[in-house]
Amino acid sequence: MKALIDKYRIDSCTQCNNECADACPVYRFYGTWHPQQLAEACLASRGGKPVDHRLIWCCVNCRACSDACPFDVEFGGFVRELRIGRKDRTAAFEDLIGTYQRMQAGMPGAGSHVSGKKGGKKRKSPEWVDDTMELGQDDGVALFVGCIPFFQEAFGRPDVFNPIEMARAAVMLLNRAGISPVLFEDERCCGRDLYDTGDGETFRKLAEHNISLIDRYAVSTVITICPKCAYTLDRTYRDEFGALPFEVRHITEVLAEHLDDIQFREEAGKLTFHDPCYLSRYRAVVEPPRAIVKRLSSDGMIEMERHGRSAPCCGAGSWTGHGPHTRALVNERLVEAREAGADTIVTACPKCLLLFNEVVPEGAWRQASVEVKDLLMIAADLLVGDPSGGDGEET
Ligand code: SF4
Ligand code: SF4
Repeated sequence: MKALIDKYRIDSCTQCNNECADACPVYRFYGTWHPQQLAEACLASRGGKPVDHRLIWCCVNCRACSDACPFDVEFGGFVRELRIGRKDRTAAFEDLIGTYQRMQAGMPGAGSHVSGKKGGKKRKSPEWVDDTMELGQDDGVALFVGCIPFFQEAFGRPDVFNPIEMARAAVMLLNRAGISPVLFEDERCCGRDLYDTGDGETFRKLAEHNISLIDRYAVSTVITICPKCAYTLDRTYRDEFGALPFEVRHITEVLAEHLDDIQFREEAGKLTFHDPCYLSRYRAVVEPPRAIVKRLSSDGMIEMERHGRSAPCCGAGSWTGHGPHTRALVNERLVEAREAGADTIVTACPKCLLLFNEVVPEGAWRQASVEVKDLLMIAADLLVGDPSGGDGEET
């Protein structure tokens, strides 16, 4: 415990004005738990007394506390390491998603939702790829699809929630930007959730698989759809394995640089953007998604009161400790969007999209007259000359 306390500077806490607690989305709902309380419990338990499991599992690893702390105390990493080896995880969501991710680490072919063409050889394409998409012609650039195909299988609902459309939209938009990405055959989950919940062994298996895959395809740039994949492939893999010979970019960073090359119809209405934690706080990417949103909205983009690095977590975290606070977080965001005058919350993370859709009944969204949509899906729908048969004009 002492090593962890030193590593994450827990001893540096001066019990200031509780900036961390004010920023913590979990504390705001329970009022009985906050990061500093966890620090105190751990400092008191240096002698080996176990720490209350609720203190360890309800953190969503959003990094709001570390961002707010004037003394650089880092609770997110501290909590992550406290979880290592614990058997008292309880969340059903985490059980389901964690089981799938562990299966991916142990089963050859378990992750082959995606495939592409390389070196003139055509591989079997995944079902979501169609003939209008250009794939595999830029050998230097790959698209990392992440867990989206699993989310589609486990949570997709026809005409309501189809996360696989994010993957289709990503390819269509990259094509319009002049990029024909390689899709990895046998790509696996990046391992983020397992890493954050203390299963470092399975995380390493997944990471080693993905690193060797990237090496085999000899790509120099990996574009991700999920912000967590971007941070994990870019930072956590390097932290764990040292220097790696590829760059990692989130797709909004890439598309924002190509906006002059892509034509959209500006019809999307009153949009506001919900910043995913792993894009804004973890990766400091705030402006690129906004540049895209602004291009799509005929009414301009509306900011919610809490935005950018101050935006609250959607509540997904690593699927741990979901409880009343998770639903409250989403409800609170819904109200915040409505009060800002937006009719649509746009996000750029499959997990935010899943959480927003799964924890709040559809009726609540309708009642609030607010929709939640994915940025890539909206952008692809508004492409001028939409190859899927939309009503845009040919360029
Ligand atoms: S913000 Fe930092 S110094 Fe202040 S109570 Fe929280 S951990 Fe301690
Ligand atoms: S990472 Fe987020 S949820 Fe966890 S203690 Fe910090 S502010 Fe609270």
